[in-house]
Amino acid sequence: MFISIERLQNEIPKSDPDPKAASALQEILGGKFGEMRVMMQYMFQTFNFRGTAKPFQDLLRSIASEEIGHVELVSYTINMMLEGSTKSDEPTNLPLSSALNAPNIHHFLVAGQSSRPVDAVGNPFLGEYIYNSGHLPLDLLYNLIGEATGTLQMCRLYQMSDNKAFRATLAFLICRDHAHQKAWAKALEVMGVKWSDQIFAIPQFDYSKLPEVKELMQTNLHNQQWSFTNSPSQMSKIFNGESPFGKGETLEAIDGFPEGFEVPQLPEATQEFSSGLLQSGVMDQMNQKTRQI
Ligand code: MN
Repeated sequence: MFISIERLQNEIPKSDPDPKAASALQEILGGKFGEMRVMMQYMFQTFNFRGTAKPFQDLLRSIASEEIGHVELVSYTINMMLEGSTKSDEPTNLPLSSALNAPNIHHFLVAGQSSRPVDAVGNPFLGEYIYNSGHLPLDLLYNLIGEATGTLQMCRLYQMSDNKAFRATLAFLICRDHAHQKAWAKALEVMGVKWSDQIFAIPQFDYSKLPEVKELMQTNLHNQQWSFTNSPSQMSKIFNGESPFGKGETLEAIDGFPEGFEVPQLPEATQEFSSGLLQSGVMDQMNQKTRQI
């Protein structure tokens, strides 16, 4: 089973509205190599695991659980970037006119100015993206490709906008996907694969050139993995010792989950009729009841 903790894995700084960059970030949410895909892929690989190689199953479970929080983080980031992009005004004053210039009108037309389970050009998320062959080495290879492609796309996105919320979330996810590339490579290394630090991690470049990433790397975030469980995890039998990609880096397994950051509270958007409760008096009635208790 799963429990939820009302905290985000990384902080989302306040930033200017930017529906164009928010639309681009949708690729990291609902795209073929986005967070929804890896979350579902690792979940199915965990649930469908056969045999007694528990450390591998525990590693899959830990990273699958972390990915739920990545879906949450990207979703909130998109919402924060859409916030303030329309006006709160009388319907006749066209408060939603900016939606006509947004790359994804569905952010405003179908959703109440919020994220959707689609990619950057609006394709819906597909279960077809998920790879789970039941053959562990193959599944791990596919996972490595998934994380490497995800990092590649995030490094491209990083160069498209300097919006603060956009960059903070991308920097965090670049670090974490980097760690997950190492996790899957290490699991394959345990099986006998030898990796080249000339090719991996992908993409190969000096990540400290991205200041937000550099700051996070100074905390060793790119070499760590939390277990995200309250039961003993055997994940550390795999995720330990030297990084499979060398460079003198050491992998660090940590029990439990990080402290996290405050979840942003978005205001009502009456111009979107969202949440639809402001005028109904429902919240007043509920607050009244709470006071009676
Ligand atoms: Mn992720």
